[in-house]
This record gives sequence, C-alpha cells and structure tokens, in this order.
Amino acid sequence: MLNPFTTLKTKTWERLLSESCLDAEVLAQFIDIDSDMVSPVIEKYPMRINPYFLSLIQKKGDPIWKQCVPDIRELEDHEALTADPLFEEPQSPTPGLIHRYPDRVVFMVSNQCAVYCRHCMRKRRVGEKYGISADTIERGIAYIQSDPAIRDVILSGGDPLLLADDKIEELLTRIDKIPHVDMIRIHTRVPCTLPQRITNDLVSVLKQVAPVYVNIQFNHPNEITFQSSQACDMLADAGIPLGSQTVLLKGVNDDPGVMMRLMRCLLKIRVRPYYLHHGDPVKGTGHFRTTIKKGLEIMHHLRGRLSGMGVPYYMIDLPKGGGKVPLLPEYLVKSDLRDLKVRNFEGKIFDYPGAG
Ligand SMILES: *Cc1c(COP(=O)(O)O)cnc(C)c1O
Repeated sequence: MLNPFTTLKTKTWERLLSESCLDAEVLAQFIDIDSDMVSPVIEKYPMRINPYFLSLIQKKGDPIWKQCVPDIRELEDHEALTADPLFEEPQSPTPGLIHRYPDRVVFMVSNQCAVYCRHCMRKRRVGEKYGISADTIERGIAYIQSDPAIRDVILSGGDPLLLADDKIEELLTRIDKIPHVDMIRIHTRVPCTLPQRITNDLVSVLKQVAPVYVNIQFNHPNEITFQSSQACDMLADAGIPLGSQTVLLKGVNDDPGVMMRLMRCLLKIRVRPYYLHHGDPVKGTGHFRTTIKKGLEIMHHLRGRLSGMGVPYYMIDLPKGGGKVPLLPEYLVKSDLRDLKVRNFEGKIFDYPGAG
C-alpha cells in the first residue's frame, strides 16, 4: 500500500479535497480493490474519497472502507427500496427546500460532500454535475421569509460546510435577519470526513450568528481521531453546540459494543449523541440495512450502561413523508397504565404505582 498521507498535515482542505480518489484506477494505487467490481458502481453512483478519510482505512472491508468504497451490491434492485422513499421531492415547495414539519425546513444549499458515503440517503443526487444555482438559494430564502411559522432552518445538502466561507457567511447572515427564524442548524459530516475544513476563519463565520447548532454524522469510533477531535474542540470552544446523527449500518456499527464505544468517544469530544437513524429504504443502500430488532437491542444495551447524556433517540423516518418517529425497547411489561410493571435495563421487572 502506497502511503500518500505523510504530507496530510501540511495541506489545506481545498488541496486535500482536490486530491480525492474519484476513479477505480487511482484508488487501486492505495488500497486493494478489484477495479472490475468498483468501476461499474461508480458509473451509477460516483465515488469521492479524500486522502484524510482514506487514511483512516486500516484494513480491507473495515468500517471506514465500507462507508466509502463502492460495493457491487449497490447495483442490486430490491422491490422495497426506492430513490426517494421519504418523498423529499414532493414535499419541496421550492427546489432543494423540504417543508415537512410546520416549524422547520431542510434547505439543501450545497451538493458537494467531502466523501460520497455509500449509504447516503440522498444517493439519487450524489455527484450532480451542476452546482446549486443562485436562483435556488434566492427562492429558498424567499420561501422562509414568507412563512412566519418557520423557526428552525436546517442547512443540509450535500454538505453546507463545503461552501466557501464567504458563501456560508452570506447565507447565515441573510437567514439570521429573518425575524421569525430562531435558530439555524448545520448538518454536516465535515468534522468527521475532512476535519481540516474546520479552520479559525470558518469558526469566526459560524460564531457571528446565534444560535447555530452543528449536527455531525459520526458512525464509528475509528472516526474519532486527533484531527476530528480538534475540529470539534474548535467548534465547541466557540460556543457552538454539537450533536451527532449516527446512521445504523450493517457491518459498520450494528453492534452494541461498537455503538457504546462510539457514544463514549463522542461525549469525550463534546458531541452530544442526538439521533441514531435506522437506515432509510433508499435504492442502492440495501446491503447496509439491518433489522429494527437489532436497533432496539443496541438501544436496550446503551440505556443504563452508558451516561444518559450519550444515549441518542433511535429514529425511523416514515416513508411518503410521514416524518420521524422514535422507537424504544419495550420497557412496559403490563400496560393498562394504572399499576405498571416495568422492565429495567437489566431485564428485571419492577412495579410502578399508578395514581388514582
Ligand atoms: C429530520 C428532519 C427534520 C428535523 O427533525 P428534528 O426531529 O427536528 O431533528 C426536519 N425536516 C425534515 C424534512 C427532516 O427530515
């Protein structure tokens, strides 16, 4: 294996991004892949692996590998899987803006990512050639301005933090000026997949408007490195609350011990586990899907054994735009809701006195 990483430290994030592996021939110089199995996948679902994320791969088929190296199973057709199961497009009043809940919108302001995750829920749009147009941004902002019920604007994509600092600054200040908007969330993987992007200049931009919350997708303890910890430190030191939105992925983190380690690592770097997402039934991601039973088993394992600060909500996102719903392991043993019998995290049964 060649080692392209010796100069990782001295390179800017733009440089790292520009040195990403985009095709099988280049990737094969670094890791042991079968190009014939990778190339056909890339034709349908593009690949991008930047040198930093590539450097986290320790061995073939490990959890970092699975998230970024194309897998021939992405091309399998499953009846239950569709390109847009959550009906994001039908729920978009303007291009790139999803309005599902009354008080908040998702605004997709970038179509670039530092790594093209193989499990992406927006796989249908990955690698679109054209950027997000100025018109899309204008229409999105006008829509937010026009609906006083919108209090929370979630910037997503793609990855909003792959925009240039001045673009991010302009967006944030314009949205911040809308009187009915109380908060802005930034949904990003950059602190995990290209932590070099979190620069002092970027942090100053994010600090200017308040409150900005940053939610990061971390999926495996191997992603918590010196660099990603430092990136999170810089954000947290600037007073930006950090959350994580982990995706439950078969072969990556569908294991109570791995999930426990991940949540513990996140707490140490001041990232509060927020959601554990069950994988959406998105076409091309079937090989990552695991059972709800497994998800519940993991949640049952976490609660009680891990600081409550580190226990996320386990969410399924309902098809056809029904929204997110939390699932809980069954703790209620007897359920006439008067005198309860409740199962605790060890499986022991306790009586809980009802009132009246
Ligand atoms: C997930 C999601 C949100 C945010 O949901 P929260 O539960 O507030 O984090 C908002 N809009 C859409 C369309 C979503 O998918």
